[in-house]
Amino acid sequence: MNLVYSVVIPCYNEEAVITESYRRLSDVMRGMQEPYELVFVNDGSRDKTAEMLNDLAAQDSNVRVIHFARNGGHQIAVTAGLDYATGQAIVIIDADLQDPPEVIPQMAERWLEGAQVVYGQRRSRAGESAFKLKTAELYYRLMQRLTNNAFPRDTGDFRLVDERVADVIRGMPEHARYLRGMFAWAGFKQEPLLYDRDKRFAGETHYSLKKMLKLAADGVMSFSDKPLKLPLWVGLFWLGLGALVAFILLILAIAGRPGGLWWMASLMAVLGGSVLTSLGIMGAYLARIYDEAKDRPLYIVAETRGFPEEI
Ligand code: UDP
Ligand code: MG
Repeated sequence: MNLVYSVVIPCYNEEAVITESYRRLSDVMRGMQEPYELVFVNDGSRDKTAEMLNDLAAQDSNVRVIHFARNGGHQIAVTAGLDYATGQAIVIIDADLQDPPEVIPQMAERWLEGAQVVYGQRRSRAGESAFKLKTAELYYRLMQRLTNNAFPRDTGDFRLVDERVADVIRGMPEHARYLRGMFAWAGFKQEPLLYDRDKRFAGETHYSLKKMLKLAADGVMSFSDKPLKLPLWVGLFWLGLGALVAFILLILAIAGRPGGLWWMASLMAVLGGSVLTSLGIMGAYLARIYDEAKDRPLYIVAETRGFPEEI
C-alpha cells in the first residue's frame, strides 16, 4: 500500500498533550480518506511520553514511533521524522496543538493543486508573551535584512511538503539545522497558508531562552555571511578616513603648518582600519570554507523531460 500522507510530530516531555494531539490528528487524517501514518519522534523525553506513544503504536497501525536515545532538539527530531516518513506528502506539526491539525486538509488541497511546499503563515498568535512576540518580530526583521528577504516572515515549521522536497532536505547533511530556512532555500513551488496559531493545549514551552537563541543564531549563521564580512566594510572606512587625514596633514605640512597630534590620530585610524580589513578578508574566506563544509547540493532538479525512461 502506498502511503499518501505522513505527519511528523516531534515530542519532548509532552505527556500532557499526546493523547489529545493523537485524537485530533487521527480525526483529521481519517477524514481525508487516504492511507496515512503518524510519525511521532520522541526526542529523549523523561516523562511518560515514551510509554504513551508505545501504547498508541500497539493500538493503531497508522502510528510509528522513533525514540531518541537522548534529547537532540526540535529541529533534529523533525529531521529524523522526515527521514523515516514514507508518504507522498509530509506534514510537520508541533505536538502541543499550537498548530491546529484541522488546517492540514487545506494544505493537502493546495498540494493536490500543484503546490510542493505549503507553509503555515501565522495570522495571529494566541497565548504568547509580549516578550516572545516582540523578539520574534525583531528577529524576522533582522533575518529579512541579513538574507535579502530569502525567507517568508511569521512562518515556523508547520508545513506540508512534497516527497521530492523532503528528499532534498534528506540530502542536506548540515548539522546546524534551521529547517524553515532549508525549505525556503530548496525552492520548488511554495505557497503560504494563513492560519491562527493557538495557545499550547497543556504543559509548557520546551524552548528555553537558550534554545531559542541557538535557533536564532543557527538561522542567521546558516544562511547569511554578512556578519563575517562586516569588519571588511568598517575596516575600509577607517582606513580611508585615516589615509584622508594623513593626506590633508601632508599638504598642511608642505604649507608650513605641522599637524602635531593629528598625525597620531591618522596613524591609529590607518592601523585599526588595516586590522579590521584583514579580519573581514579572513571572514570572506571563512564564509567560503563554511559554505563548502555545509556540503549542500549544488543544484536541485524539480523535474526532467525527454530523457529515455529508466529501466
Ligand atoms: N520539542 C522537541 N525537542 C525539544 C524541544 C521541543 O521535540 O528539545 C518539540 C515539542 O515537543 C513540540 C515542538 O517541538 O512538539 C515545539 O516545542 P514547544 O511547543 O515547546 O515550543 P514553542 O511552541 O513554545 O516555541
Ligand atoms: Mg509550542
